[in-house]
Amino acid sequence: MRPLPGGQTQLFIGTHLVHEVTSPQAFAMMRERGLKVRFPQRTFATVDHIIPTDSQIRPFADRLAEDMLQELEKNSRDSGITFFDPASGHQGIIHVIGPELGLTQPGSTIACGDSHTATHGAFGAIAFGIGTSQVRDVLASQCLAIARLGVRRIEVTGELGPGVYAKDVILAIIRKLGVNGGVGYAYEYAGPVVDAMDMEERMTLCNMSIEGGARCGYVNPDETTIEYLRGRSHAPEGEAFERAAEYWRAVASDPGADYDEVVQLDGSRIEPSITWGIHPGHNLGVGERIPTPNGVPDDERAGVEEALEYMDLDPGAPIAGTPVDVAFIGSCTNGRISDLREAARVAKTGNVREGVRALVVPGSQEVARQAEAEGLDEVFRNAGFQWREPGCSMCLAMNPDKLIGREICASTSNRNFKGRQGSPTGRTLLMSPAMVAAAAIAGRVVDVREVL
Ligand code: SF4
Repeated sequence: MRPLPGGQTQLFIGTHLVHEVTSPQAFAMMRERGLKVRFPQRTFATVDHIIPTDSQIRPFADRLAEDMLQELEKNSRDSGITFFDPASGHQGIIHVIGPELGLTQPGSTIACGDSHTATHGAFGAIAFGIGTSQVRDVLASQCLAIARLGVRRIEVTGELGPGVYAKDVILAIIRKLGVNGGVGYAYEYAGPVVDAMDMEERMTLCNMSIEGGARCGYVNPDETTIEYLRGRSHAPEGEAFERAAEYWRAVASDPGADYDEVVQLDGSRIEPSITWGIHPGHNLGVGERIPTPNGVPDDERAGVEEALEYMDLDPGAPIAGTPVDVAFIGSCTNGRISDLREAARVAKTGNVREGVRALVVPGSQEVARQAEAEGLDEVFRNAGFQWREPGCSMCLAMNPDKLIGREICASTSNRNFKGRQGSPTGRTLLMSPAMVAAAAIAGRVVDVREVL
C-alpha cells in the first residue's frame, strides 16, 4: 500500500477472484497488450452466473453458457490460474467458495469483478467489487488505485428474536440508512448481535453492504472467524495456522478506535423483514403495511409511487398475505448450509402450495454435498421443492432459471430491482430463507414465527 500522486492509494490485492462474466474482456485486453497474469498463484476462478442448475453434464445444452465456461477454462489454463470448474468438486458461487475453501482470510485484500465481493469482509478482510478494466489491472499488476473510504461503525445491540436472521438485520440497516447512505463508506458491523453471529450470518450481513451504498462491509475477526478457518483447504496448517491466527486477532479494530460515524440499531426490535418495492431499502417488517404515497416524506413520494405502480401492490394493505408465484432459495446472500437448514426446518411443516414453483439452489458443490449428507435434499423434494445444482440461478437469471411475465418471487437473493430475475416485468420480494420456505408453503407472505 502506498500513496499515489493523485491522492489515491495503491493497494496490493492479496486474492483475486475471477468468474466467467466479467473476466473474458479483461483477458482479451491483456492479450492485446501482450501482458501476462502477474500473480497466478493469487488468482482463483470459478463459473457461477451462467451455469445451468437443472443439469451440469457437459457440454451444456445452453451453447452460450458452454462457450463462456470453455473461455474461462482456456484463460485459466493459459495463465496458470486455479479454476474450480464443475469437475473439481469445488465449483460454486464465487462468494460462497472463497470462504469455504479458506481463501478468504482476515487482514487480506480481496477483489473480484462482482459487486457482492463485500461478502468476504465478514472475515475482517478488505474486500470489494471492481469493474472489468480493474479486473485487467489486477490480473496484470495485482494492484488497484483506490480512494480512502470513511468508516461507519454500525452497532447492532440487544438480541435477535426467534425467526429473525442476519438477512432481516441487513434489511433493517438499509431501511434505516438508505440505499445511498453508505456511499463513500466502508461499513464495520459490530455489537452483541454481530458478535453472536456465526460466519455464515456475518457473510449475509456483509454481502448486502453494497445494497446500502457502501463500498465494502467488515466484521472484526474473532475466535468464531478463526475456528471457521481451521482445517479449510487453503488455510495455513499446524504451527503456521496458530501464527496466522495470532496475526488475525491483531488486525481487529482497536477498542477505542475513531470512526467517521457510529450508528446504533436495537436488534431486539427487528422483525422478519420483506421488500415491497424496487430496491432493498423498500422493506418493512412482516407485521407492517405497504406504504401509501401520502404517508411518506415528500422526497420519497415519487420513488414510492413508481415502486407501487411496478409492483402493483395495494398501498396501505398488510404485506402479509401478498400472494407469491415462485420461491427461490439460494444466492451468495443465502445459499449456504445454515440457510438451507433453516429453510428445511420450515419445509418439514408442509408442502409447497399448488401452483407455486419453488427452487432450492445450493451455493456450491460443497454446500450441496453437505445438505445431501444431512438429508435436506429429501426434505425439500418431499415438500415439493425442486433440488437444483449449484450456481447463481434465479438471483440474476443469466441462466434458464427465470421468472415469467408478472410473476412474484419470494427470494433469498439481494436485489429486487425491476426485471432482476429474468422477466422485464417480474417482481421480487426479498426475505430470509425461512420466510421464503414459509411463503412457498402458504402461497403467500406469512410470518415465519407462526410456523416454527
Ligand atoms: S448469487 Fe447473485 S449477487 Fe451473488 S454473485 Fe451470483 S448473481 Fe451476483
